[in-house]
Amino acid sequence: MTDADDNVRYDQARYVENGQYEPLLSEKDLTRVEIDEGDDGDDSPLPDDLTRDSLELPELSEPELVRHYTRLSQMIYGIDSGPYPLGSCTMKYNPKFTEDVAAVPDGAVHPDRSEESVQGTLELLYRLQDYLGRIGGMDAVTLQPPAGAAGEFVGIRVAAAYHEHNGEGHRDEVIVPESAHGTNFASAALGGYEVVSLPSDDEGRVDLEALEAALSENTAALMLTNPNTLGLFERDIEEIAEMVHDVGGLLYYDGANLNALLGRARPGDMGFDVMHYNVHKTFATPHGGGGPGAGPVGVVDELAPFLPSPRVRTDGDASYELFEPEHTIGKVHGFHGNWLVLVKTFAYIARLGDEGLTDASAKAVLNANYLASRIEYDVPYEPFHHEFVASAGDQDAADVAKRMLDYGVHPPTTKWPEIVPEALMTEPTEVESKDTLDRLAAAFNAVAAEEDATLEDAPERTTARRIDQTSAARSPRLSWQTLSDEEE
Ligand SMILES: *Cc1c(COP(=O)(O)O)cnc(C)c1O
Repeated sequence: MTDADDNVRYDQARYVENGQYEPLLSEKDLTRVEIDEGDDGDDSPLPDDLTRDSLELPELSEPELVRHYTRLSQMIYGIDSGPYPLGSCTMKYNPKFTEDVAAVPDGAVHPDRSEESVQGTLELLYRLQDYLGRIGGMDAVTLQPPAGAAGEFVGIRVAAAYHEHNGEGHRDEVIVPESAHGTNFASAALGGYEVVSLPSDDEGRVDLEALEAALSENTAALMLTNPNTLGLFERDIEEIAEMVHDVGGLLYYDGANLNALLGRARPGDMGFDVMHYNVHKTFATPHGGGGPGAGPVGVVDELAPFLPSPRVRTDGDASYELFEPEHTIGKVHGFHGNWLVLVKTFAYIARLGDEGLTDASAKAVLNANYLASRIEYDVPYEPFHHEFVASAGDQDAADVAKRMLDYGVHPPTTKWPEIVPEALMTEPTEVESKDTLDRLAAAFNAVAAEEDATLEDAPERTTARRIDQTSAARSPRLSWQTLSDEEE
């Protein structure tokens, strides 16, 4: 064990002690092989000090290499290691077949090829637009935005373009419930709007009186997710839609919680005009992590002419082409968006089909309800759907989260939404078995019974302890320090 000061950094000494430490290849005492790169360096137009003639690499056998990366991969917790009940994030397991489909060599087409020569690519994009449209009850879809938050921004810009086109450019307010995800406030503000924050009622839903008071001729849109961040279905959604539409505003659906509704209810049928899809939450594509993502946006007919360009259409004769919507807000991404992420989305939807998607949402809701019934923490707001927000009570939710790691499971999302004190926002997803849910519940309950001092010291068993993420982001250490550097 190290003392508290050391708490913020990767604790190599402890890992050497536990036999868990895996040095970098450059730190290992390995035989080097010299790879001769030939004379090519001489012909290079680059200055001499930027070219090389030979390269020295560590010599490794296949098992050594495999073990190295396997051990490194075990130093972090991922969805392939165990349950990951991070509320709102819908960390479902990504089936490996989608990776296979995306790795088909023919899928890697040059984006500048002629439309005639990439009809298969365009067909897939067209069919995905169509699937997503039908799943959300939307008339038109763009696949370009590279994340959910980017989708929000696009949706808000599309709404703005629509209002301006109709001579309603004076509308300068977007209403966002106070329980909403931070990106909703940010997208509205970045889109040029005043953000009006809406309080919840005692039951954790939209407060209709407060909404009435917030709505005006200046309202451009109301952004909602349904079920909301407490996992509660907004029962008055039709009335809410009518109220927003009556003042000439648009209703925006944050698709992060679509996993709860798949195959059962559609935002379009509830009166939403524009929505984004978090395909990494609902349709099992990888969660960013800095890599490429996708956050398609769907809209009703009236907004379709404003969508980003290009979109894909068909003449109905099995021939596909790109087109620019009449009043497009322009391009928001290179070419057609993150193509291979979209391939995975398509593969997942096509493999599950109507029945599979409907079954996924049923199990997501069942799993959340089962888990909640097994844990000892209080869950103040009910009835919830695919996720619930428990309260850590007198414990600090962040400490609870750190301690859960010691029990070999990933913790829930913490401290949000703020309506629940010391929130533990939990979403097991449909992929977990009863066995795993029981193991998760046991971890929650073990931590619930522990002393504050134990929690404050946690985690004890992870590779990194309490990482100071703010400092790490502001003043990153960009060179690797080895154990021997430390000792010097
Ligand atoms: C995840 C999430 C977002 C943002 O989506 P990203 O794809 O992570 O950018 C927006 N709203 C809610 C409720 C979310 O959970």
